[in-house]
Amino acid sequence: QAKARGRNGYSFYTPSMTGEGVERLRLETFLRRSIEKDEIFLNYQPQVEIDTGRLIGVEALVRWNHPELGLIPPIRFIPLAEDTGFINQLGKWVLEEACRQMVRWQQAGLHVPKMAVNLSAKQFERGSIVNMVADILRETGLEPDRLQLEVTESVIMNTGDAMVFINDLHSIGVGLAIDDFGTGYSSLAYLKQLPVQTLKIDRSFIKDISTDVNDEAIAIAIIQLGKSMNLSVIAEGVETEEQAAFLLRHGCRLAQGYFYSKPVAAQDLLTRWHQP
Ligand code: C2E
Ligand code: MG
Ligand code: MG
Ligand code: MG
Repeated sequence: QAKARGRNGYSFYTPSMTGEGVERLRLETFLRRSIEKDEIFLNYQPQVEIDTGRLIGVEALVRWNHPELGLIPPIRFIPLAEDTGFINQLGKWVLEEACRQMVRWQQAGLHVPKMAVNLSAKQFERGSIVNMVADILRETGLEPDRLQLEVTESVIMNTGDAMVFINDLHSIGVGLAIDDFGTGYSSLAYLKQLPVQTLKIDRSFIKDISTDVNDEAIAIAIIQLGKSMNLSVIAEGVETEEQAAFLLRHGCRLAQGYFYSKPVAAQDLLTRWHQP
């Protein structure tokens, strides 16, 4: 197999570069131009109060539609964006678009109480996250307490200055949720120190909640923890009425999942939730 050698004698295609590596490079190249090419957009998944069905907020979920490759799921491109540093540009775009959308819905007559936006660890490493969030809130005019940032336990535990940034974000009035709660490596001690408002019970515990005694025990423990620490608890990945009923019975009032709605386009949310 012929090796392509550069002028310096470095080979572009090393023997270890598998098909997977090539594919990754191709994705990386495409990803870098995805924003300017208008291929990135957001879907929004409703978060509801279980007993009333009332909309309490939405979570922004990023989507990438490439003209040749089709719709690429975030689990495939977020890690890539993190490795290449593109996540900073992407994360900023997501935050801006999500905040702008809140204002658009408001102007169209739909009040969405809260917008949740995911942050990745790499966005904290850059350091200027607090200024970025403050700038976007100022530019869009969205009230800080209507924005909730979601981070995972590992972001908090493994990011050197995460505590500092999170306290700074709190000081400008932005909310914080711990995403995928219960799946990460974490110490409960940090919960006491952090200005967190919300725990999101990971979907993996909800899936078999009424049949698997371990999942049931974990979910109940998280609900109790939230209650005793005065945090709101929201269940992720609720797909059935039974799961919703179980949660309500055990004191979890908030949910998000396919049972209520899949992530949808901004316009669809307006159509479904707008009350004339
Ligand atoms: P996440 O933040 O935990 O988001 C929840 C994921 O669960 C979403 O997948 C959502 O579509 C899916 N989901 C919600 N309800 C159900 C359900 O009832 N059943 C099932 N099977 N799935 C459900 P999605 O959109 O593919 O996102 C996957 C992950 O990618 C997110 O997990 C988040 O970690 C990451 N992500 C998405 N958007 C962003 C973003 O803008 N920035 C960053 N840094 N990460 C993002
Ligand atoms: Mg999330
Ligand atoms: Mg989650
Ligand atoms: Mg996740």
